[in-house]
Amino acid sequence: MIPFNKPAVTGKEAEYIQDAILNGKLSGDGAYTKKCHEWFEAQFSASKALLTTSCTHALEMAAILAGIKEGDEVIMPSYTFVSTANAFVLRGARIVFVDVRPDTMNMDEKLIEQSITSRTKAIVPVHYAGVSCNMDVIMSIAAKYNLCVIEDAAQGVMSTYQGKYLGTIGHFGCYSFHETKNYNCGEGGALIINDESYIERAEIIREKGTDRSRFFRGQVDKYSWVDMGSSYLPSEINAAFLYAQLEHAEQINNYRLDCWSAYYQGLKALEEKGHLSLPFIPDDCVHNAHMFYIKTANLEVRTRLIDYLKEQGIHSVFHYVPLHSADAGRQFGEMAGEDRYTTTESERLLRLPLYYGLKLDEISKVVQTIQSFYQKE
Ligand SMILES: *Cc1c(COP(=O)(O)O)cnc(C)c1O
Repeated sequence: MIPFNKPAVTGKEAEYIQDAILNGKLSGDGAYTKKCHEWFEAQFSASKALLTTSCTHALEMAAILAGIKEGDEVIMPSYTFVSTANAFVLRGARIVFVDVRPDTMNMDEKLIEQSITSRTKAIVPVHYAGVSCNMDVIMSIAAKYNLCVIEDAAQGVMSTYQGKYLGTIGHFGCYSFHETKNYNCGEGGALIINDESYIERAEIIREKGTDRSRFFRGQVDKYSWVDMGSSYLPSEINAAFLYAQLEHAEQINNYRLDCWSAYYQGLKALEEKGHLSLPFIPDDCVHNAHMFYIKTANLEVRTRLIDYLKEQGIHSVFHYVPLHSADAGRQFGEMAGEDRYTTTESERLLRLPLYYGLKLDEISKVVQTIQSFYQKE
């Protein structure tokens, strides 16, 4: 059986967790959390990185920091994970869903401006499959209308747009270290803060609304409740696990890119024959091989292909049911304009196994199985 995903393990995780135990500090913001923060800040030239318990929580922090309140509108794609929307729904916002571009499955930047109203407060680009949205256009619209940009870069760690790391372009960037993502600690995330004026408040919100960070730095002599907040910081055990992954970030990234290329080369002939379509990477983007997907002719072919792969011991999965057509999506938001591509393109999309440690002969088996499926079509 070739599984869809195996969480990456580099070999140092247990040693670093053991070390964290010996350090005698297991709650958050110890030595390993600091190492992770410094790694992101140095590697990505980010002004501030804060580990969180998930990307969901990083998005929630960003929504609080952006001052989102009852009645505000937030623009995002419908083709995304529920957390992208929930973070803003929790603050009372209405979600305005915008159609995707069929080539990248990212929010169509040409549809954003017409969706802006006097209530719009933020744009949330989701970098699907680790391939950047058109951030040039998004940032200039945001500047023109004075909107906050929160990048959902859950899938985009290590990817770049015009040489800049995803998550460092908007006002905020949110990463995920869930076990299905490129770098993981089981469950985890990070908030990247690119506008320094938000750093101090972010530290307070993350520490249950207290100025505990300032206290530990010796800037105040006692800590107290100063703002709203929650417990968004992960334990040192998670940070130790994550640090073992970050040290091997380049190696994991290259490994995944090799897998991605092997799929692309292997399936190119089927695309040329018109059986399926392969992912598209715009010129400005360097991606991180977060996923390899194909698009079949339609939902019916996809369903048969999933079953066929399963019979051959290969686990493939599809992705999001568009949020605007879900019960909660209808309650908390609506599609702005036409759903031209979101539903039809999402029904065609199929994700193939891709993880650190996947073997080239396993990729060949997946490719051959897809080829034999289309021979019978
Ligand atoms: C995985 C994912 C999330 C949620 O990440 P968690 O760390 O599990 O909270 C949010 N948005 C997108 C686009 C994702 O892929």
